[in-house]
Amino acid sequence: NTPLHELDPEIAAAVDAELNRQQTTLEMIASENFAPLAVMEAQGTVLTNKYAEGYPGRRYYGGCEHVDVAEQIAIDRVKELFGAEYANVQPHSGASANQAALFALAQPGDTILGLDLAHGGHLTHGMRLNFSGKQFDVVAYHVDAETGLVDMAELERLAKEHRPKVIIAGWSAYPRELDFAEFRRIADEVGAYLWVDMAHFAGLVAAGLHANPVPYADVVTSTTHKTLGGPRGGIILARNKDFAKKLNSAVFPGFQGGPLEHVIAAKAVSFKVAASEDFKERQRRTVEGARILAERLTAADAREVGVNVLSGGTDVHLILVDLRDSELDGQQAEDRLHEVGITVNRNAVPNDPRPPMVTSGLRIGTPALATRGFTAEDFTEVADVIAETLKPSYDGEALKARVKALADKHPLYPGLNK
Ligand code: PLP
Repeated sequence: NTPLHELDPEIAAAVDAELNRQQTTLEMIASENFAPLAVMEAQGTVLTNKYAEGYPGRRYYGGCEHVDVAEQIAIDRVKELFGAEYANVQPHSGASANQAALFALAQPGDTILGLDLAHGGHLTHGMRLNFSGKQFDVVAYHVDAETGLVDMAELERLAKEHRPKVIIAGWSAYPRELDFAEFRRIADEVGAYLWVDMAHFAGLVAAGLHANPVPYADVVTSTTHKTLGGPRGGIILARNKDFAKKLNSAVFPGFQGGPLEHVIAAKAVSFKVAASEDFKERQRRTVEGARILAERLTAADAREVGVNVLSGGTDVHLILVDLRDSELDGQQAEDRLHEVGITVNRNAVPNDPRPPMVTSGLRIGTPALATRGFTAEDFTEVADVIAETLKPSYDGEALKARVKALADKHPLYPGLNK
């Protein structure tokens, strides 16, 4: 029972250094967040020791009476949170949830229709090197080059032409709400299943700030660690039980063995948090922060140096900065922001003239800073620091000091410092 710092100082040092990085920099990767201490506490419990293949009440191992309780609570809470009749909380990650969803709805070789990766889609929606691209016949839809919005006319045309088994709605880098009713109409017209991957915007849905895809889709998948703010993991939901058997058996025994009951317990805690008023207020600040970023980065002085925002704004927790007219490419902009203490990721813009490792854009998100307590006033300062950093000449030291002042104003995990 030797503590980590004594047993393994090398790993303890890496963990401490990561804590320090998270505390002293501004985390603006759109898919990241800070899990509450209670979520991390649940994840660090003895539930990690338990094998529990199967589902609550129907396990292939003895001694599951307590993990059954935790997993059933997680299922009940997430069903209530999103108004779903079916939930599976076992997928180890978003990609595992997506793999199970796809194999429950379609067979290898079937046609699937998803948003192109380079236009904001996810790897699991049909990228060439992913299982989805290797085992399914992929047709991709796109965003309109002018408006930056999903081209629903193209989607309908491709759906009619290719008659996919599954239409996938969802994204990793897109700043607007999708029209789920229109996706449903098109899916019905061609006899396709509709799968919505709400990994990015699930927290906004839980807070009532974004349309809920559950009533429209046959299957909905999500991660639990992005806007939802829980432990790393995945979930599968459905409005009814039509696909319950297929989905359950796709997860186990289809792709997974024993579920991570410690993570499932942590998911349950995060679903409780997501049903609270505090969580709603945090999601409101998340969306407000993204709107402030969009406003400041489409202001005249930003446009003068070639900085723009795709689609002209945002409905969600992220913005996509378009650097096609800037002297800086995505890599240079990411590096500069890193230098002043802001973490973002470079991101391809639609029809990007630069290669994928360089890109002409940035994806900037507000969930982690909103969790840290950032207000509209703080997000205005963050936006101004970003705008200054992206100008041809910038004062790195002064900008670093402004970042430090913001980080100091909102301490992160103060109780964790040794
Ligand atoms: N789905 C979407 C839309 C995502 O953006 C991501 C992660 O970036 C995933 C699924 C995959 O989640 P994970 O990284 O947990 O496998």
